[in-house]
Amino acid sequence: MKSQETLWNNCLEHIKTKIHFDNFSTWFAPTQALGWESETLIIEVPNHFYKKCLEDNYSELILSSLKEVTGKSAPVKYVLEGQYGEAPASEPESDEKTIVSSEDKPSPVEAGENRGNLVPSVDGKFTFSNFVVGSSNQFAHAAAQAVAKSPAMAYNPLFIYSGVGLGKTHLLQAIGGAILKENQSSRVQYLTAEEFTVDLIESLRNDRMPAFRSKYRPLDVLLVDDIQFIAGKERTQEEFFFTFNALYESHKQVVLSSDRYPKDMHDIEERLRSRFESGLITDIKLPDLETKVAILERKAEFHKKSIPHDVNLFIANNIKTNIRELEGLLLRIIAYASFTHKEINLELAKEVLKDFTYDKNRHFTVPKILKKVASHFHLKVADLKSNKRTRNISLPRQIAMYLSREYTPTSLPEIGKQFGGKDHTTVLYSYRQIANLIKENNDISHSIESIIKQIERG
Ligand code: ADP
Ligand code: MG
Repeated sequence: MKSQETLWNNCLEHIKTKIHFDNFSTWFAPTQALGWESETLIIEVPNHFYKKCLEDNYSELILSSLKEVTGKSAPVKYVLEGQYGEAPASEPESDEKTIVSSEDKPSPVEAGENRGNLVPSVDGKFTFSNFVVGSSNQFAHAAAQAVAKSPAMAYNPLFIYSGVGLGKTHLLQAIGGAILKENQSSRVQYLTAEEFTVDLIESLRNDRMPAFRSKYRPLDVLLVDDIQFIAGKERTQEEFFFTFNALYESHKQVVLSSDRYPKDMHDIEERLRSRFESGLITDIKLPDLETKVAILERKAEFHKKSIPHDVNLFIANNIKTNIRELEGLLLRIIAYASFTHKEINLELAKEVLKDFTYDKNRHFTVPKILKKVASHFHLKVADLKSNKRTRNISLPRQIAMYLSREYTPTSLPEIGKQFGGKDHTTVLYSYRQIANLIKENNDISHSIESIIKQIERG
């Protein structure tokens, strides 16, 4: 990741703790840092509305967060999506220059730690009552509730596993919030594994290990999100192992979330893996249509909006693998309707979806999909294009065809051509095979999610 992106992400983490989550996801989530123009940070926003809203309402917060993260004031400049580096079409005042290297900017760690919110969010969003239960998540939900009701008595550790955007953080925070609500003096700490790592590095560097240990060991409940982050980080694993044992042995609750099963976490010490497996492992699967619609209805209620049922169905049918995106699209529709003073209906939803899909999918091209799928399965692109029919090649090939159809505008015959001259019916058949498998087979759906994530990272 480029340094301006890291810096902006740290800044966003900071902003996230200061404003309501919904405002954050509407206004800040779609932004990204493009680079520096001498001392000015260039932030890309989707359109004029965002630019205006950020300038009018959030400029102080942004500046102070940047100062918090970098240690000095840095002005920002907004550019509209796709216009940076081009002659600005509608913005005569923005006189872009070349991006100055950001080598001299402080690294995120030097820039001072930004450890985010260590107490569970209290804005009432990530609570059990806001969590919609369906067949995809009922076990994880029940386990989380059991732990919240009797910490360290029910399942310890509780290990929640799912793909991206399916409710892990929500459940972790709900557990923390419920325990605190029951007992305000309970020492509960929520943090991501990344924050734990940053804290450790800082403490090691500043000779503050005793303070580090005395921070985590007296806790009653430790909730660590995205524990897969510590894979491959030996020192962090070692320290986490000690922390874990100290808590476990004194009958304190540990809850972990991860985007993969312990058995699929490579580069992780065996002794830690066996700790992770020693309690209850529960997963969240992809939500079915009814659950997605129920979630949309709940979110709309939260925003005090009423959304026609056919619009909810439309969103649910179009967003397949990620509840965060489901919500993201809903928020965009709400925002768009309010900017344009239009009524929320199917037509408007379709219009917004077009942009949304474009934004989401602009990283996807058939050659890129071929490359990432091949590397995910340790194959060569040539294997995917070949006519070999062994399962270890044909399944990845079908996945690559599926992704090409689902995520790029390429026609079936053209996809066939790019796969070494296959017939368009082969592509269609593969697409349908995988679309069915995704529903039934978690391993495949998680492989696909992980490939999508890699493509999105570029
Ligand atoms: P993860 O941590 O698994 O990536 P999150 O917990 O951040 O996912 O969830 C992404 C978004 O989806 C959050 O806004 C969360 O509130 C919402 N969400 C996930 N599952 C549910 C659910 N069952 N009911 C309501 N909202 C949900
Ligand atoms: Mg999460």
